Amino acid sequence: MQALDSHWHNPSSLYPTAGEVKHLLEESRETLAQHLGIDDAQRIIFTSGATESNNLVVRHVAATSSSSRILVSEIEHPSVLQPSALAFGERFEKVLANETGVIDLNALADQLRGQSVSLLSIMAANNETGVLQPWSEANELCRKYHVPFHCDAVQWLGKRPATQLGECDWLSGSAHKFGGPKGVGFLVTPPEIDRLHNAQSGGPQERGLRAGTENYPAIAAMLAALGHAERLSENSDSIGRERDDFESRILELIPGTQLCGANAPRLWNTSMLVLPEHRNLKWLTRMGDLGFALSTGSACSSGRGNPSHVMQAMGLDFDEMGRVLRISAGWETTPSDWNALSEALAEVYQSLNSNAKRATRSNTISLTDINSYPDSRLQSFLQTQRSASK
Ligand code: PLP
Repeated sequence: MQALDSHWHNPSSLYPTAGEVKHLLEESRETLAQHLGIDDAQRIIFTSGATESNNLVVRHVAATSSSSRILVSEIEHPSVLQPSALAFGERFEKVLANETGVIDLNALADQLRGQSVSLLSIMAANNETGVLQPWSEANELCRKYHVPFHCDAVQWLGKRPATQLGECDWLSGSAHKFGGPKGVGFLVTPPEIDRLHNAQSGGPQERGLRAGTENYPAIAAMLAALGHAERLSENSDSIGRERDDFESRILELIPGTQLCGANAPRLWNTSMLVLPEHRNLKWLTRMGDLGFALSTGSACSSGRGNPSHVMQAMGLDFDEMGRVLRISAGWETTPSDWNALSEALAEVYQSLNSNAKRATRSNTISLTDINSYPDSRLQSFLQTQRSASK
């Protein structure tokens, strides 16, 4: 608020108050560099968020490597997967994940060995499951095979210590995932980069790498939020136990529930459940009525009803994907919030079960349900289920 009030001037202008904003902007860059363990703050450029940062990396690498391949984990965010497929075409290769949602390091080592690779991109933590990825080991493999490494650290930042992330060649972050404003983020570039190919052109801001007037108030808010989130995450072990207690309680209250990625290390705030019965949209609506903001998959794809590529990578079938509920807690979520959530889920489960018993139709899947899914593969799967249950 202070920055909006007093430091709204264009940092590239020459009058004194603008110079002050320029100075504060550079201070923010230094502070972020310290958070990330980076010696040279000039490696950081501010962007509009991680979608832009991820696109910048992939498009730059595509423009500067004519024949080598890009390796991208199959559970990356679409802002890495899509530009990679578009810019690299047949030279785009996926790194597979196992059924707990962790990328396979042995397979990755084989992929890196013996072929020319211009970039490996592995996220630090997955946005749907919260499962932590072995990004540091992947970075070491890249050092061994002289391959540049990109890490999308959007979900990690503000929840786990960030100091070693600066060892990555390229790094993306986004403020709104650690409590800052939407529409601001950053990209760390390798030290030698003095031009980003395929970036928007215009003014000389951000060392000429990223044209456009910097949004200093948003950048100041991003840094304030990062510091705050990191302080609150210092006792993340105990907050993680609260999520684990919630999951144990759910297994008692709603028998047959599966926990996704529970056998792998996860962020403390995420829980992805495959419920034993009833479509997730029904759960979502009932839980929304009780004041809980839950999700069926990633926010980017859940609104469109497309099956999640992360759940597919973990081997869930269409039926299971239709029963997934994703829960993300915040830094201030308390044990009593988790308790209220488990009680509400149990209540909704009972009410959905008693409604189902009252239903007069013998088939459990209605045509209206089926047609509400825009995805044709899911529709035909449900049609088959419906015919089988008749
Ligand atoms: N990468 C990951 C892992 C994300 O979770 C998100 C957003 O949800 C993004 C990238 C895109 O970030 P932004 O919304 O800042 O463009």
